[in-house]
Amino acid sequence: MLAAMKASISKCCGWLLVAALSGVPGSAAAQAVAPAVAPAVAPATKAAAFVYRVGMDEPEKHEFSLELNFSDIPGASVDLQLPKWNPGAYRLTEAHRNLRGVVVETPGGKPVQVVKVDEVTWRVSHAGQPFRVRYRVYRGSYNGIGGAYLDDEFGFFNGVYLFLYAVGHKDRAIDLRIDELPAAGAQIVTGLPRAGQGKSFRAANYDVLVDAPVHAGKVDLIPFAVGKTKFRLAMAGIGNYSEKKLVADFTKIAQSAFAVFGGGPEAVPFDDYTFIFHLRPGNRSGLEHLNSTVIGADPFVFGDPETYRGLLRLAAHELFHAWNVKRIRPTVLGPFAYEREVHTSMLWFSEGFTSYYAWLLLARTGLSGEPETLEVLAESIRKLQEAPGRKTMTVEQASWETWLKPDDSGNSYVDYYTKGMLIAVMLDLEIRRISGGQRSVDTVMRELWARYLRLGTGLGPTELEQIFVAQGGAAGTEISELFRRYVHGFDELDYNRHLGLAGYRLEVSQADSGGDIEATIGERVGDGAAVIELVRAGGPAERAGLSNNDVLIAIDGLKVTAKDAPKQIKAMAGNTKHTFTLLRGPRLLTKTVTPVTAAQTKYKVASLAAVSYEQKLTRQAWLGYTAQAAGTSNDQLREAALKLFSSDPTAGADDAAPTTAPPRAKKAKKKARTPAK
Ligand SMILES: [Zn+2]
Repeated sequence: MLAAMKASISKCCGWLLVAALSGVPGSAAAQAVAPAVAPAVAPATKAAAFVYRVGMDEPEKHEFSLELNFSDIPGASVDLQLPKWNPGAYRLTEAHRNLRGVVVETPGGKPVQVVKVDEVTWRVSHAGQPFRVRYRVYRGSYNGIGGAYLDDEFGFFNGVYLFLYAVGHKDRAIDLRIDELPAAGAQIVTGLPRAGQGKSFRAANYDVLVDAPVHAGKVDLIPFAVGKTKFRLAMAGIGNYSEKKLVADFTKIAQSAFAVFGGGPEAVPFDDYTFIFHLRPGNRSGLEHLNSTVIGADPFVFGDPETYRGLLRLAAHELFHAWNVKRIRPTVLGPFAYEREVHTSMLWFSEGFTSYYAWLLLARTGLSGEPETLEVLAESIRKLQEAPGRKTMTVEQASWETWLKPDDSGNSYVDYYTKGMLIAVMLDLEIRRISGGQRSVDTVMRELWARYLRLGTGLGPTELEQIFVAQGGAAGTEISELFRRYVHGFDELDYNRHLGLAGYRLEVSQADSGGDIEATIGERVGDGAAVIELVRAGGPAERAGLSNNDVLIAIDGLKVTAKDAPKQIKAMAGNTKHTFTLLRGPRLLTKTVTPVTAAQTKYKVASLAAVSYEQKLTRQAWLGYTAQAAGTSNDQLREAALKLFSSDPTAGADDAAPTTAPPRAKKAKKKARTPAK
């Protein structure tokens, strides 16, 4: 996910042109529209498939009815468990709270003994015989694209909210049958392949079952193909989108993603892929799955170029996850232990590099022009540089701790999406420099993909680092050093050194933006009171003794609310004294605050005044831009870049090849190289 909700790069969006485009011609018979081809998954065992049935016939009650049929399970008893979390969203679901009415019986309807042994586990004494389990699951509040919900318009579920698994038998194939739909004309959309006609689907095992969310409702279904790979966009809800434009843009994104992994048939991990869009006001997040994703978006995100690009980046992020995290993955992220939180130090790579590629694919396809691409980069730099947590927490620690962020995460946490993406930028440019343009983060991804195709297993942080270091050849220690400083450590990213390799620089400027006490002020629900949400470490508010959760009653003796307090503070001159009246719990306090004049820092990534041929070549190979170097035609540049990337990426760094000379030539020990002609 965007840590489920987090990886969202999408921007908040405006309410624009309303165009009701949803709606599939109402057919009385519900129509199953899942793909006919199975995703690439492990083969099922030979024992009979379990049969899971889902009913949505009482949508007004918001209750799914479940019937799970188990057979060929040896032994006197077996435990059935409900997962505690949903892969991709690193937080506990507490789904078991809404599971009720568990009944276990033989196929003939005789009761079978069942006892609940902990909050998510039921022990069934089945004496080696087939049995079925019936229960209901209440889902009455829409809890986003990673959740489950049922009403009389649509039913939607991530399987971890509904489906028990038989402990020790998660590798068994499962037939999923949808018995009743919540509304006439509802279609079933899921990444699972159909099993025969009707509303039956086949999952190779439990992991696959719950990694294919099901949406049952009216959707606008937009199919397209990229080569032999089938894609579908399933738009649930109205929105101001153009089907033609979506198909054109998503085709480009898919082609560009395939190209990262070599572009051939082996590059594509699925036969078909489904984007399910939940178009609802305020929705903006995505969650990745094996051959599908569910993306939440504002219905009217499509009309404004900036918000639309944000959505495309989010979609590219989720699609890229089909490689990075769903298959190229940390060891603990598949097969999954659902009964507890699992920790990995690698989310800076799994999420950060996925965000990097979302950004990169938009640049390479031209869906984001150079100015917009650089703006997103500068915004990421701003986010990281304004996070005090970057000095106290590494991206590896942040990855590990993702399950429970601290209450003051604004001060103490570092966002591994943002820093991971920026580390990707830096590593990519350095690997291109060291290898003379022969290797890059693209070749790292290809190597990781080849490894996955060979082994099918996850990998650990040491192996990941070794694969990066190997890209550096004889200069691999330079890559190790970047890992030591940026991944394992707290060093500030040396933006200008790395971006300079592509002829860019970071411009930091400051503008006076009024008084500032360096605290975030929020509004208390109900009465609109001003609440100090976060006192920034080392700022005037902290020096004055203000504290998180203080209620700000008055400034200089005059009552304030959440609406006017920020304006009053902004109007203050720097280095003047002001009396703040606060409530801390039941105590009334006064503090003297001395604001500073805020110098708002602005970050801009801009082209160097003079960009060398080599820098332009790197820029073009990296971002795909055909910016014209002085005295060089675009065709020449393109030809040179093609030569760079058609050469054998595994060849040694010293192989004669057209290359980019490092701007900081004194650090490079290699002989000088000649630009390609
Ligand atoms: Zn993500």
